[in-house]
Amino acid sequence: MDYQAKIATNVASIPRSGIRDFFELVQGRDDVISLGVGEPDFVTPWHIREAAIYSLEKGQTTYTSNLGLLSLRKSISRYVEDFFKVSYDAPTEVLVTVGVSEAIDIALRALLNPGDEVIYHEPCYVSYSPSIVMAHGVPVGVVTTKEDEFSLKPEKVAAAITPRTRIIFINFPTNPTGACASRADLEGIAKLAIEHDLIVMTDEIYSELRYDEEEPHLSIASLPGMKERTILLHGFSKAFAMTGFRLGYACAPQPIIEAMMKIHQYAMLCAPIMSQNAAIEALENGQPAMIAMRNSYHQRRDFLVKRLNEIGLDCHTPGGAFYVFPDIRSTGLSSKEFAMRLLEEENVACVPGSAFGPSGEGFLRCCYATAFDDIRTATDRIERFVGRL
Ligand code: PLP
Repeated sequence: MDYQAKIATNVASIPRSGIRDFFELVQGRDDVISLGVGEPDFVTPWHIREAAIYSLEKGQTTYTSNLGLLSLRKSISRYVEDFFKVSYDAPTEVLVTVGVSEAIDIALRALLNPGDEVIYHEPCYVSYSPSIVMAHGVPVGVVTTKEDEFSLKPEKVAAAITPRTRIIFINFPTNPTGACASRADLEGIAKLAIEHDLIVMTDEIYSELRYDEEEPHLSIASLPGMKERTILLHGFSKAFAMTGFRLGYACAPQPIIEAMMKIHQYAMLCAPIMSQNAAIEALENGQPAMIAMRNSYHQRRDFLVKRLNEIGLDCHTPGGAFYVFPDIRSTGLSSKEFAMRLLEEENVACVPGSAFGPSGEGFLRCCYATAFDDIRTATDRIERFVGRL
């Protein structure tokens, strides 16, 4: 059978994730230090794991409401109001999802008609463009540059808007660059969204992981006139080190949540109940552990940025997330060549910038959610490698 002819054309057209492809090469090699996968090296704090265990012990093994446990949605609503300064009605404006990944997928599917355009900034998280294509939309990547510290400039967004634009999709702090947007840039993007009557999707998954206290995190959802046109996406994977729990949420006006819920109830039914119980514990009592993890990432960020610059790989200091994005163009290698040779010659795994879109070429993503000693050894190995080039 010609299986390729049986696969839907939009699915056939999307590439596999460049990160996964690269990490298949890492499997089976000994002594590899990985600055690769974007996952906390911490185990989920014990009291959060315990809440999941208690949930099982108490025999809570059922489906929940499609929207998620109301007690969790109330916790989310309180937390979001406190942290993002936006208030959402727990029964009608919050949907619990299987990670931010699912929330992105169902938000796009709920809003896009075939051919509708979605503007997003690039380099970006690997799922954005394929998720738009899978929802029959058209991805419109706007390139962000090192000179702008990888923030998204409103004038570039304005130039990308067409009559088919439906959504502006942003992610600050950004994977893979760690970029944060200034208030002025967010205000400029908000103004455009209002003028052109667009929806904004904001992936806030790294929002707790901001390191420069003079600039607390600001969500576009909290700007005047924006709550009514914003879908705020957030989750537990990064700040609470809960990737395996697969839990996230969307906050948005009721009609949008209702539309997303329809897809969620048929595709997913609900998020796992033990993860939902663990998430309540994370929101209610998880701050001290989260802050301790953030402090540790902060130290590692400072060390890694300093070392990469000493080595001669120009690296801006990213304001958030747990990635640095050094410029490797001075070595004359492509990002893929650099990453492959670094892996083969020095057993250090980093992700080629090109995995995050064509504009990531010339850069490397290094994740510092890795033990401090490993970061130290990895930078020594990178220094040896660059010295030989
Ligand atoms: N959004 C961004 C920007 C990410 O970096 C990731 C994971 O790396 C996700 C979403 C996926 O998050 P989740 O584990 O909640 O599905």
